[in-house]
This record gives sequence, C-alpha cells and structure tokens, in this order.
Amino acid sequence: MSQTHFDYIVIGGGSGGYAAARTARETCDHVAIIDGAETLGGLCILRGCMPSKTLIYSAEVLHLAQHGEKFGLKIPDAAADMAALHRRKLTMIEEFSEYRQEQLQSDRFTLFRSRAKFIDEQTIELDDGTRLTADHFMVATGSTVSVPPIQGLADVPFWTSDDVLELDFLPEKVIVLGGGIVACELAQFLRRVGSEVIQIQRSSHILKEVSPEAATVIEAAFRDEGIELYTGTSLQNISHSEGKFTVHFEHNGQSITAEAPYLLNALGREATTKGLGLEAAGVEMRRDGKIVCSEMQQTANPRIYACGDVTGPHEIVHVAILQGELAAKHATGRAAEPVSYDDLLGVVFTDPQIGTVGLNEAQLKERGIDYLSADYPFDDHGKSILMEAKYGYVKVFAERATGVVLGAECVSKDGGELIHAMGVAVTMKATVKDLMKVHWYHPTLSEIWSYPIEDILDEM
Ligand SMILES: Cc1cc2nc3c(=O)[nH]c(=O)nc-3n(C[C@H](O)[C@H](O)[C@H](O)COP(=O)(O)OP(=O)(O)OC[C@H]3O[C@@H](n4cnc5c(N)ncnc54)[C@H](O)[C@@H]3O)c2cc1C
Repeated sequence: MSQTHFDYIVIGGGSGGYAAARTARETCDHVAIIDGAETLGGLCILRGCMPSKTLIYSAEVLHLAQHGEKFGLKIPDAAADMAALHRRKLTMIEEFSEYRQEQLQSDRFTLFRSRAKFIDEQTIELDDGTRLTADHFMVATGSTVSVPPIQGLADVPFWTSDDVLELDFLPEKVIVLGGGIVACELAQFLRRVGSEVIQIQRSSHILKEVSPEAATVIEAAFRDEGIELYTGTSLQNISHSEGKFTVHFEHNGQSITAEAPYLLNALGREATTKGLGLEAAGVEMRRDGKIVCSEMQQTANPRIYACGDVTGPHEIVHVAILQGELAAKHATGRAAEPVSYDDLLGVVFTDPQIGTVGLNEAQLKERGIDYLSADYPFDDHGKSILMEAKYGYVKVFAERATGVVLGAECVSKDGGELIHAMGVAVTMKATVKDLMKVHWYHPTLSEIWSYPIEDILDEM
C-alpha cells in the first residue's frame, strides 16, 4: 500500500509552499507536496512576477526607442510586435517553470497532482478519495482574483491580469479598474505598447501601499504618457453589449461614462481558501478570508501552518518564501526568527519604479518615533539628467538620537534596484554616519543616496 502518513504535507507548490517543503526536507524524510494546478509552478512564475516583468521590460525598451530623439537617436517605426512579445514571454516562463517543476517532481518529495481538503484536524482528502495524515501541514494555496460587489461586474466578460499577460494582439482601448500595484503596472504596459488606457481608481491616489508623495509622481508620469487616469471615483455600474463595455462612475461630483472593447478587473485578489475544509480543521480565518497565523505562521490548529498570499499581510514573493522557511523550521523544532515586517522591502514596477524599505513616514508618526528625514530630487542629479530619467526623488528616515536608518523610499528609473542599498542599511541597523563611509561611485543613480544621508548627519 502506498504511504498515507507523512512528516510534513504542503498544500500548494508555489513560492511559499515550495520554500516550506524544501526547508522541512532538510530534517524530515517524508515530505509530500499536493498541487491541483494543471501546470505546476505557482503564481509568480506562471501568471505573476515573471511574465509581467518580462513584458514590462519590453515595453520600457520600446518607450526608450520611441523617445530616441531625446538621446540623439533616430529610431523610426519603433513599435510592439505583440505576437513576438507573447512568444518571448512564453519562452522565458517555460524555462523558469521547468526548473520549478523539476524541483517539485524530484524524488526528495512525494508529489500528488490533486486538490486537497481537510476532513478533520489531522486528515486531508484528495480528489480520488485518498486520505493522508501528517505530523504537520502547510497551507500555501495562494490567492485568486476577487470580484467586488460592483453592480454588473460579475456579469460581464472582464479580463484579469492573466488575460493581459497572455495577449498576442494589441487591444485598441482598455478600461483598467483599480489603482493597486498590478493595476498600475499593467495599465502602463498596455499604454506603452500602444493601447488607449482609461484607469479608474476609487481612492484619491493610486498605489495605497506607498506614500501620497510617491503616488503623485507616478500619477504625473502616467498622465504625461497619455493614460486617462481618474482618482477619487465611485463606480456606479458596468455593462457589456455588442462587444463594448460601458462603465459609469462619479468623479468630482460629475457622472462619467467610459466605453471600450476591453475591461481589466484589477481590483484585487483574495485568499484561496474555498473548498479547503479549513473549518473542519479548526483553522481560523479573518473576515477578508485570510488565514489567521501567529508570528511563527501557526494557525489556530497548532499542527497546521500557513504562508504566502493565503495569509498575508503582504502578498509578495519574498515574504511568502521567508514565511514558508520560518514555518517549516518551527514545525520541525528548529530555532527561527519571526519575519521582520519593520524591514519590509517593496517594489512597484512602474516606470519610474518605486522602492520602499523599512518604516514609512506615516508609521514613524503613528509609533511616535522622533526621526529626521531628508530627500533629494532626480531632476537635480547628474546621472539621472544624462539618462533623461528626471521623475522622482529619494528620501531617508533616521532616528534623531542615534542616526539609525529606519526607512527609505525611492521613486526613480530602476528604483527597485536602488532601494536595495537602503535595504541593507535598514536590516543591518546602519547609521547615517556608517553610510557616509560607503564608496558611492560617480556617476551612478545610487550615489544620490549620499545627499539625504549627509543632510541628516548635518542636522543631528
Ligand atoms: C500580475 C501579478 C504580478 C505580480 N508581480 C509580483 C512581483 O513583481 N513581485 C512580487 O514579489 N510579487 C508579485 N506578485 C505576487 C506574487 O506572485 C504572489 O505573492 C506569490 O506568487 C504568492 O505565492 P504563494 O506561494 O502564496 O501562492 P501561489 O504561487 O499562488 O501558489 C499556490 C498554489 O496552490 C495550489 N492550490 C490552490 N488551492 C489548492 C488546493 N485546494 N489543493 C491543492 N493545491 C491548491 C495552486 O495550484 C498553486 O500552485 C504578482 C502577482 C500578480 C497577479
């Protein structure tokens, strides 16, 4: 009879689940992974980070080529070949997913290609009725596109991010609902490859994850590129007929109607917990459907852990991995530190990009921390001027008494790369004095950090 009891069972073989399985396998002989997807690989590789960044980078190259004259270049007819973009993306994703599939299918794990659900506190059932038990379980089932209760939305054939990432033709006009990270990254991608884009956001700024100051820079860049961006709106209703979507919304007290042949619902994602039998397993969930966990990723049932999008609080890959590793170490009796969200690093892959790390200004105020801050704009910096990349700024926050760097933000060309210098500083608890000893190479974008750092040091 094949094995039915394991040391450790992971449900969901994405970034978080694989990290947990790999870590558990360091000390356990019998680790099973269960994944019900048609194609193995998880969201990041198949329909998230990797395909989106492949396409966004192509769109950035196109944007530079179309503005070649700024650099003294003649590049007539620079245009997107959507079928070729699609093929390139498929090739990239195939390579990345093959590698992950090999890892999941290796003889280090027992892999079940099935959906799983708990039938009690220590037993799961697969689609074919097989029942499995384990000393510990990891729930890493990720997230699914949500459909908020907006009149008409559930009844129309909207696109999700999956559809945009699969495009092999140029949509002439797209309405993008939402102003979160995925909405913004894909709205700019669509605009840059040549679509007309209308973006509708409920809050007064896009990108609620970042400061209003950072969001304002992106809003200006979007409008400069021709995105018709509405913020501070209220969606009234959505309909679809004769191949056309009609979206009614209110903006500044006016009723506005937007029409387009395509509609992207990028209003958010929700935890994938339906059908998992979590109630039967004694796992507690929040009102938003996410699994409640301790700082060691343990659920209300101490045998069961959760990591990644299914629990949050930040739906990003490196957090899913850190949580997965932590949870597996804890379950297998090894020392582990909780994930420090005070060091959290975030990137928004718009152009300019946004990089953030550590505590932001709102958090510093909320916690009553006495801090100093200084910033410096990219339109007054040598390297960014010669690169024609003048949007944005860098900003650093440090504790007044000690000079320890507590947080930083960067809105700029390649801001997602630049922020890592401050990521090291925040995580290592470096002071502004330490950072002034760093060799900041000239001329680079990164050397811009030395200006606010020096300003804070002067002020201390
Ligand atoms: C368009 C887009 C772009 C993104 N870009 C970035 C980015 O640039 N950087 C970043 O950090 N993050 C990005 N993200 C977010 C990132 O992809 C996710 O946070 C991350 O992939 C979540 O990993 P996970 O392990 O929690 O879940 P997933 O990778 O989604 O894995 C869940 C797995 O569980 C399986 N599963 C679900 N239910 C069951 C069940 N009942 N039984 C068995 N198996 C089941 C699924 O088949 C799936 O394989 C992006 C997301 C999107 C949508």
